[in-house]
Amino acid sequence: MELNIGQIRRDFPILTQKVFGKPLIYLDNAATTQKPLSVIRKIEDIYSTINANVHRGIHHLSQLATESHEEARKTVQRYINAASPGEIIFTSGTTDSINLVAHSFCRSQCKPGDEIIITTMEHHSNIVPWQIQRDISGIEIKVAPLRENGEICLEDVEELISSKTRLIAIAHVSNVLGTINPVAGIIQLAHDYNIPVLVDAAQSIQHLPVDVQALDCDFLAFSAHKMYGPTGVGVLYGKERLLEKMPPYRAGGEMIAHVSFEKTTFNELPYKFEAGTPDYVGSAALGKAIRYIENLGLDKIHRYEDRLLQYATDRLLQIEGIQIIGTSPHKSSVISFLVGGIHPYDMGMLLDQLGIALRTGHHCAQPLMDALGIEGTLRASFAFYNTEEEIDILVEGIGKVVKMF
Ligand code: PLP
Repeated sequence: MELNIGQIRRDFPILTQKVFGKPLIYLDNAATTQKPLSVIRKIEDIYSTINANVHRGIHHLSQLATESHEEARKTVQRYINAASPGEIIFTSGTTDSINLVAHSFCRSQCKPGDEIIITTMEHHSNIVPWQIQRDISGIEIKVAPLRENGEICLEDVEELISSKTRLIAIAHVSNVLGTINPVAGIIQLAHDYNIPVLVDAAQSIQHLPVDVQALDCDFLAFSAHKMYGPTGVGVLYGKERLLEKMPPYRAGGEMIAHVSFEKTTFNELPYKFEAGTPDYVGSAALGKAIRYIENLGLDKIHRYEDRLLQYATDRLLQIEGIQIIGTSPHKSSVISFLVGGIHPYDMGMLLDQLGIALRTGHHCAQPLMDALGIEGTLRASFAFYNTEEEIDILVEGIGKVVKMF
């Protein structure tokens, strides 16, 4: 049986809202997704019943809160098929996860002149942390180029590999182009040279099955809020063998084994990387979001979203003067586009008046915009609660705006 979209939409209270008197059409899912009631209720439930700081108290509530937090870790472990819960580090999101690796990996594994490879299509959060490490650790950053249709090719990555390459950090799916990068091939290639790979899964974890052991990636980063979970919590997966070699990123409570003024020893994985009170409410709500996705089935989600992508692409291409940015045959449900000479910001504002929420701008990928020779785009990004009818209204809306110009 395929997804029952009517029923799914009823799980998301926000979708029944009107904006400027029009039914909300939410097509900004790559920025953040909406939350189902089960996730919203989980947050309320924890604060109403078991709220207490985790890992610290022997009292009943603290035990329950700790169990809930650790259960969520196991849910994440199962979802991405990590080998052990110790490989799941709760962070505040993808950005925090990548910063953790950049800081801790470079500090312990890199010397001046060593190289990190990224790609032209990276989000700022997979560029700037490396630039900061360039200043601190003296690493060099090499950038794999973009092919015509918005793809990254294995050969181009291989050409950048040298004896100084220490890590490759790449987005699984581009938040601008929608391109699904050939990460499995890149990981295999990198491992031939003994180079670990960090996968930024911010835009894939909610759309595609991600099995870290099958992929054999060394690090994987993602955010709960882009996968129907709460804001402020995310995950860094790392292979135990690598995490063991890396020093703590932040310091304070939780991450220590013993502290004296002379010397501190650090906690075991994953706590070594989780300084301070963790977001144990967020982690439990993330666990709920994962179970929501699992109940629908990622295969069904992927099939349905792919159909939306094809439908939207076909319908948008009927608009005169439209240019779709990113035309790889391997795409997730993200479409960036420009229409004639209309500034994306103007188009976005006018569509907003029609109740249609799209993203406009550089999408935190300014170097990609530079490579494409544009300032920004409009971006429609779809989730499983979107419909073909909403896409029809979007296309109609764009038509109305074009007539106004
Ligand atoms: N990486 C990619 C590909 C993204 O699309 C985003 C957010 O849009 C991020 C990283 C950063 O995610 P967050 O802001 O949740 O840390």
